[in-house]
Amino acid sequence: MSDLRSLYQEVLLDHYKRPRHFGELASATGRAEGHNPLCGDRITVEVAVESDRLSEVAFRGSGCAISTASASLMSEAIRGLPLAEVRDLSQRFRDALTGGAATDPERLGKLVALAGVAEFPMRVKCATLAWHALEAALAGGAVVSTE
Ligand code: ZN
Repeated sequence: MSDLRSLYQEVLLDHYKRPRHFGELASATGRAEGHNPLCGDRITVEVAVESDRLSEVAFRGSGCAISTASASLMSEAIRGLPLAEVRDLSQRFRDALTGGAATDPERLGKLVALAGVAEFPMRVKCATLAWHALEAALAGGAVVSTE
């Protein structure tokens, strides 16, 4: 398990240092900003939706390692998926971190690297921030706060 843990930490560090899909989206059809006042994370998520499919996603902002790595992993995981699958993954990810429903880690794909955050309630909001912003962006855009 400790090998697995250090592997996950490497994945998170890699995504923090070299975030994927970081920047602005010229073709954005929705945009929302997420704010986590407890940690100071601010992340703006932009989405481009084409016929019920998330064709593009990008994020920008500044946050801690967890929130940045989570936004990067999220963007990579959801890009190109049908919206129904994006919402399904979002639900599964948040369930896994908040311990709501039992979630098979296998079904999280690379997002499983963040599953350990569930042990640190203060950091759960960092890890889920990008997903809250994503849902708001898909719903038409807004500013969302974890508080
Ligand atoms: Zn944070």
